[in-house]
Amino acid sequence: MDLQFLGAADTVTGSRHRVALGGQSVLLDCGLFQGYKTLRERNWAPMPAAASEVDAVLLSHAHLDHSGALPLLVRAGFRGPVHCTAATRDLCEVLLLDSAHLAEEDARRANRDHTSRHTPARPLYTVAEARRAIAQLRPLARGRDTVRIGHVTATFRPAGHLLGASWIALNSGDERLVYSGDLGRSDDLLMPPPEPLEQADVLLVESTYGQRLHPPGDPVAELGAIVRDTIGRGGSVLLPTFAVGRAQALLLALQRLKEAGELPAALPVVLDSPMAIQATALYQRHRRGLRISAAEAAGLDQGVMLTASSAASMRLASRRMPMVILAASGMATGGRVLHHLKRMAPDPRHAIVFPGFQAGGTRGARLLAGETEVKIHGAWWPVRARVSQIAGLSGHADAQGLMEWVSALARPPRSTFVVHGEAAASDALRHRLQERWNSPVHVPEHGSSWSA
Ligand code: ZN
Repeated sequence: MDLQFLGAADTVTGSRHRVALGGQSVLLDCGLFQGYKTLRERNWAPMPAAASEVDAVLLSHAHLDHSGALPLLVRAGFRGPVHCTAATRDLCEVLLLDSAHLAEEDARRANRDHTSRHTPARPLYTVAEARRAIAQLRPLARGRDTVRIGHVTATFRPAGHLLGASWIALNSGDERLVYSGDLGRSDDLLMPPPEPLEQADVLLVESTYGQRLHPPGDPVAELGAIVRDTIGRGGSVLLPTFAVGRAQALLLALQRLKEAGELPAALPVVLDSPMAIQATALYQRHRRGLRISAAEAAGLDQGVMLTASSAASMRLASRRMPMVILAASGMATGGRVLHHLKRMAPDPRHAIVFPGFQAGGTRGARLLAGETEVKIHGAWWPVRARVSQIAGLSGHADAQGLMEWVSALARPPRSTFVVHGEAAASDALRHRLQERWNSPVHVPEHGSSWSA
């Protein structure tokens, strides 16, 4: 079995791992690099020369750092199937098209404002290229969790984390490789806990929270307290959120807070993201993959103002009453949240609350670090609003959750590779796994190849 780590090795984005086994060349995920500019520049490097020799892609879930480079792979000559769950297929359609729209918009803006070193500035990929990649998605047949690729069998098991997310087992003869994808937590608001791992000869495991524990306490109550405090001061709350997953968890939290009388039932909640509106409909359609009742699923968007057009979004900006605004993107790297940031950051009455992990180098990470000015669309804006983070809403298993996931293994894997983490987090998990198993555990370098 040969492995090559083409992304999410030394960082949390750009998941791409190539596996050669049973005569097949399989790519596990095909994600975008995000965050620091040096990382994002990797997106522009040529895809691995052998794109046309990849037999199949197996997609753990729809997040762009796992799926967002599929259009680049297709442009580089990949013509094979991209296997995934049905919910992942549906979410990918929404996410990839949005990613392409944003890339096209950025290129148009750069050309208009002459802010690019390249003339003309090109989008990373176009909407047409995203559509070609979406056409290669092959959802699992209804009621099935396996697919065959030559003599290799791939099995998708629930990983929590996000609607449709799976960990993936590849079986060839009596060899079994398991790839964790992103693992969810046992106490997620929307997702059931990840299914435990029982057998793996070779293991690729994520380590986003490899050295951290989720804070104790109730993130829903924390959100309620911040919102109550802010509207009491006459301000509004901006929640920069991933449109898919986190936005639906926040809608559920706000619904529960209103029902419990913790927030005024009439407090306007705005979902200012066409993509989040589409994703909410998909969460309702695939409700059986969630841990909420049919009534709660139906209630996700009840009484919520949905602003599908940017004209409606702009009108919203001029309203003065306190409200809660959910807008993408989650790390404030682009999207409609930037317009709200420009308006709200300079006003000390408002609160900007990040409900998710902020990768280093993103605008979100810089705001959380306490920077007093924020650069948006080429201009600087003062930051006087209260900036905070609700850490407990993460969709990832923490260090203890990761150890729990592997605790059902009957025997240690022959080789383990710790991926998808900042260096310190990956090394912390490597250390703990090696102590428990007394078998080799590696943190692979970007681009490195291994035989396992
Ligand atoms: Zn993810």
